[in-house]
Amino acid sequence: MRVEFEGQFAAKGLALGRARVIYSASFDIEEEPLSHAGIPNEVKRFDEALKVARAELNALTIKVSGALAKDMAEIIEAHAMILDDPEFTDAVVQLIRRETLRAPVALRRQRDLLAAAFEAIEDPYLRARRDDLDHVVARVFAALQRGGAEPERKLNAIDEILVCETIAPADLAALVDQGLKGLVATASSPYSHTAILARSFGIPMLCGARTALNFVHDGDWVLLDSEHGISLINPDAIDLSRFRTHQRDAEKEERRRAKQKVQDARTRDGHALQLYVNAEDTETIAKARRNGAAGVGLFRTEFLFLRQRELPNEDEQFKVYRDAVIAMAGKPVTFRTLDLGADKAFGGPLEVAREENPALGLRGIRLSLQRRHLFTEQVRAILRTSGFGPIRILLPMVSAIEEVREARALIEEAMAQLRHQRVPLADQVPLGVMIEVPAAALISNELARHAEFFAIGSNDLAQYVLAADRNNAQVSEAYDPMHPAFVRLLYLVADSARQAKRPLSICGEIAGDPRYTALLLALGITDFPCT
Ligand code: PEP
Ligand code: MG
Repeated sequence: MRVEFEGQFAAKGLALGRARVIYSASFDIEEEPLSHAGIPNEVKRFDEALKVARAELNALTIKVSGALAKDMAEIIEAHAMILDDPEFTDAVVQLIRRETLRAPVALRRQRDLLAAAFEAIEDPYLRARRDDLDHVVARVFAALQRGGAEPERKLNAIDEILVCETIAPADLAALVDQGLKGLVATASSPYSHTAILARSFGIPMLCGARTALNFVHDGDWVLLDSEHGISLINPDAIDLSRFRTHQRDAEKEERRRAKQKVQDARTRDGHALQLYVNAEDTETIAKARRNGAAGVGLFRTEFLFLRQRELPNEDEQFKVYRDAVIAMAGKPVTFRTLDLGADKAFGGPLEVAREENPALGLRGIRLSLQRRHLFTEQVRAILRTSGFGPIRILLPMVSAIEEVREARALIEEAMAQLRHQRVPLADQVPLGVMIEVPAAALISNELARHAEFFAIGSNDLAQYVLAADRNNAQVSEAYDPMHPAFVRLLYLVADSARQAKRPLSICGEIAGDPRYTALLLALGITDFPCT
């Protein structure tokens, strides 16, 4: 059945592919009491849901030959084992019988018991298997709710579109490497790191698509066409022919844009603008350079740490950073030091503790100053590229002057060591501060004495000053970059930079959004990212 669904386009583009659904493990259930006479029926319902879940897993093994195939076989096997594990299935039946619970209630109760047992496991790998349990339970739950098997679908999946509640940036990076074509998230927001990454990979993404999981099934065709606000399950022939036309137009536009240069960007009344690129890979940088970008305004180094299983060592980092500097051919590259915290890094190669509130936790420069060895290793890798072209170092999540002082001392120490080792380096590497915590904005006049430049991280600055999580679609209205409190902070920072004669750029997502360009220009900000 053809279903249109709504959401917010977080990353532009066109995609047509088969759905790969990941159900969320959180579910609401009615807890109506059950009579003794109703017990056999609930047990039967549960058994049937188990059968459906098993059949779905079997079908998946045949169907997954496309993008996600690599890791899927193992996951499917692990899920099938849970479905056959009496500790899970018999226990649910016992709960239905002994405590006269309805099947979904018993299922949730047993899930909670097992989840608590998983939480107590010390080995992080085994503990992470809790996700498998959640996925299996969600699948059985979905079958219970539907009351039967999913409709028959054609198999042979090709390029896939992931439909899920949300996905961690690292997981998205891995899936993109495997050929993912698009992403539909029922939660998340255009300011989330997942959305930023999707844009940087050119993967169309729809977020806040609250109802998508109610309609879509594994293997359904999904069509995303952000320019035209179209998101559909099972498009018909007319949709498809329209999609092809849009696709041809988009390719034409892409060719036209590839020829367009951003050099000499200026306002109609003659004010010059500098257009920089936010990028994490050499191809994007080289392309931006060809298109006339003034430099790399933000190189988010943490994605390098998230895309692989092991932490990259100094030499591995150096090669990636050096390639970026070479690709920019003499234009400056701004390397932001690691901006990792429990939100992005949990479960990745860098061991970080789970936190209740990662956005307010050990993140960015705070983590770097706690793991000095890691920071020094990264800074050495960055500094070594200064012999290849102009670079700058940018510190994320600064909230106090002391953090800049400490970071500068470590950078100078690393520089002295490298000089001692006769590594060719630039005479000076400017050190900048990201203004993305309200505290930093409020003391920006003093910070200007300790930093050579500022970059406003509007994504985080807006979330912190408006107390609205940038990842949460439910508060997307509260997350309003036109809010007077936010605009006042921008003004304050622009004023501090002007008075101290410090270069100021903006690297959050509003900088690439034409709706905010006039405001930013009016505030005197002239250094923007471009894509
Ligand atoms: C920001 O916060 O605006 C920013 C550019 O950094 P990130 O989006 O990586 O947190
Ligand atoms: Mg930020």
